[in-house]
Parts: sequence; C-alpha cells; structure tokens
Amino acid sequence: MGEPTPDVVVVGGGVIGLATAWRAAGRGLSVTVCDPAPGSGASTVAAGMLAPVTEAHYTEQALLRLTLDSAARWPALAAELADATGIDPAYRETGTVLAAADGGDLAMAEELHAFQQSLGLSVDRLTGREVRTLEPMLAPGIRGGLFVAGDHQVDPRRLIRALLAACATTGVTVRPDRVSAVRTDGDSATGVVLGDGTSLAAGQVLLAAGCWTGAIDGVPEGVLPTVRPVKGQLLRLQVPEQARPFLRHNLRGIVRGASIYLVPRADGELVLGATMEEQGFDTTVTAGAIYELLRDAREILPGITELTVTETQAGLRPATADNMPVLGATALPGLVLATGHFRNGILLAPVTADAVAAVLAGEATPEVARPFSPDRLVRPPSPMAVR
Ligand SMILES: Cc1cc2nc3c(=O)[nH]c(=O)nc-3n(C[C@H](O)[C@H](O)[C@H](O)COP(=O)(O)OP(=O)(O)OC[C@H]3O[C@@H](n4cnc5c(N)ncnc54)[C@H](O)[C@@H]3O)c2cc1C
Repeated sequence: MGEPTPDVVVVGGGVIGLATAWRAAGRGLSVTVCDPAPGSGASTVAAGMLAPVTEAHYTEQALLRLTLDSAARWPALAAELADATGIDPAYRETGTVLAAADGGDLAMAEELHAFQQSLGLSVDRLTGREVRTLEPMLAPGIRGGLFVAGDHQVDPRRLIRALLAACATTGVTVRPDRVSAVRTDGDSATGVVLGDGTSLAAGQVLLAAGCWTGAIDGVPEGVLPTVRPVKGQLLRLQVPEQARPFLRHNLRGIVRGASIYLVPRADGELVLGATMEEQGFDTTVTAGAIYELLRDAREILPGITELTVTETQAGLRPATADNMPVLGATALPGLVLATGHFRNGILLAPVTADAVAAVLAGEATPEVARPFSPDRLVRPPSPMAVR
C-alpha cells in the first residue's frame, strides 16, 4: 500500500508555508509540507518587526487593513504557539521609536507623521529631548522623532522553531524534498513532482515558496504572477549583559535621508538592517552595505561601535509587481497561492495562515484578504497569442 494522499501539499516551509500548514491541519485537513531546508529562506533573515504603522508609507490602503488585522492577531498566536509547543516565539510589545538625525531628516519624519495621521493611525510627535528620554543611548544631536506605541516585534528564528514543532503536534508531515513541478490532469492541480522525479498526489497544492515560487514548473501560462527577489542585508550584534537594556524599543532612524532600523531582543541580540536591492537571486554580503548600515547607525547610536558583531546575512524578500501579497485560489482549480509578502511576511503570517487555511478548507476568501487575489496580477493568455 502506498502513502495516503494528503488533502494539501504545501510547497515551501518558510513562515508562510508552515503557519498555513499548521492552521490547515487545525481545521482537520491532512497536510504535507515539502521543503529541502525549512526556514532557510527570507524568514530566517528577517528582523521580526511587526510594524503596520511605521511601514505604512510602503503600503496601499487595502494592505494597511491587512497588516493592522494581522498585528491584532499576534498576541493570541504567540500565546497559542508557546502553549502548544513550549517554544516561546518571543513576541514583545516594545513599541517603536523613530529618531531623525538632522533637520532634513526631521522634515521627513514630520511628513511621515502627517501621512500616518491622515490614515487615522496613532503616532506621537516627539522633541529631541523626548526621544532621548525614551532611548537614553541615542546621540545628543537627535533633532526629534516619533513614537508608535503599537509596532512591536517577534523573533523569527524562534517563530520558525515553534511553527515546526506546532506542525509536528498537529500531524503535519514535513518532507525534506524540493518540488520541481506542479502536476496537473489538464484541468486542475493534482499534486507535485519532487526533485527526484517521483510524484506526490494531493487534493490541493499550496505554493508558498517565497521568491522561488516562479521556478516551479508545470503551471499553465497566465496562472502565476511574477514574484521577484528583493535583497536585504543586515547584521546582528550582541549587547553585553552589563550594557542592557541598550535599547528599550524598536528603533528606526532617518539618517541623511536613509532609513535604518534596530530591533533589540531580550537576550541581548540587536538586529541592524536593512538594504533594499534589486540584484536577482544574490545573497552575498557586501562590505559597502555593512559599512553604510554601521555608519548610519553610529550617527544616531554612537555606542553601537562597542558591540560584538555576531553575524552578517542577506535574504531575499518575495515581491510581486505591486509589492503586495498574493493570497488564495488561482485560475487553476486546486492550486492556491500564499506569497509575495515582501517586507512584511512575519507581520502578515497570522492573517495569511487563517485566510488561506479557510480557502483550503473550501470556504470563501475572508473579506480582509479579498483584495489580494492572484487574479489581479495575471491575465490568461489569449488563444491567438504567438510565442
Ligand atoms: C533583510 C530582511 C529583513 C526583513 N525584516 C522583516 C521584518 O522585520 N518584519 C517582517 O514582517 N518581514 C520582514 N522581512 C520579510 C520576510 O522575511 C518575508 O516576507 C517572509 O519571510 C516571507 O516568507 P515566505 O515563507 O513566503 O518565504 P521564505 O521564508 O523565503 O520561505 C520560502 C521557502 O520555500 C522553500 N523553497 C524554495 N523553493 C522550493 C521548492 N522548489 N520546493 C520546496 N521548497 C522550496 C525555501 O527552502 C524556503 O524555506 C524581511 C526580509 C529580509 C530579507
């Protein structure tokens, strides 16, 4: 007797694939995740800011609704994961301080503040003195800033470990297989072809392979939107015990017009990021990027030069043509998508998992996720199209 056919095969075990697999299994579906190296993509590089408000300038209105909705789900999701697995994903309600280095940076912060207020978001405007009261390690010359009480953080690496454990406890099978193609019977998706050429049949296929989603063959033309990699480089530093807390909140800086962020963890890790580069599938770490991040960070936080650098890294954010995610059913029956989360995949994991699990269970796409249907980005090829 062969293996039983799962209801769903999930291609990709990053935060999106694993969270959705867990939620789908929680709805009684049998789920198999295929990934040669679960958690090895963007999710393990991410800083873990949960920042619907300070990221609002990158987003459209519908996406803002999605990010706010997801942020509201985080406390319960983190508690549920910790309860189910004993692994705490380190969700922390730190709030976020934004510091402007000079007069031009302050003007940018004020513009951002006006935009956030026009969206009805809760943000406080701070003088230089008020910013430094919140974060005493900041440079004396900081001109002013903002405080966002609702933008928090989680540790993505702990999150992945917790999701893998939660998947195991709900009966999700995680297979270390690369998927080379989606299998179809002409009308619908019927499973996947693995890297070794064998097939795995499934009731439905969920593509959640981040920026590698487009490399999976077998999907008819006009079904998959393009997903491109946007490179981000960052570094991790360690704050010695006697110097903690080095920062009390997530810190964003505007330094001569450039944006940086620092995310302090309870265990002394401090994540400094990140570049935004259109370099294709390149994950090299460059001296120039690390130099610029440290140079800008030192300007607002001089003490950073005393810290130990523990890691430098580059990851690939999955981005669509409109930089918004693609969630839900595709034009090919049985094929569902959850990718394109770009700068906010950690933040968007809870709402994505709940919405896409609902679709996999045969329900209508929840209202908040409807604007993100893959249809908006793809047009079926015309029958007359010459290739
Ligand atoms: C520098 C940086 C900082 C970031 N900071 C934040 C942040 O602070 N907050 C936030 O919300 N987001 C942040 N992000 C964005 C976030 O990391 C991504 O949006 C999110 O991780 C995407 O998750 P994913 O599961 O879709 O993709 P990934 O994590 O990339 O996972 C894709 C998975 O698919 C697997 N895979 C690929 N091809 C195949 C195949 N053929 N068969 C099977 N499996 C396959 C890979 O092995 C991988 O495990 C950051 C990203 C970067 C790069």
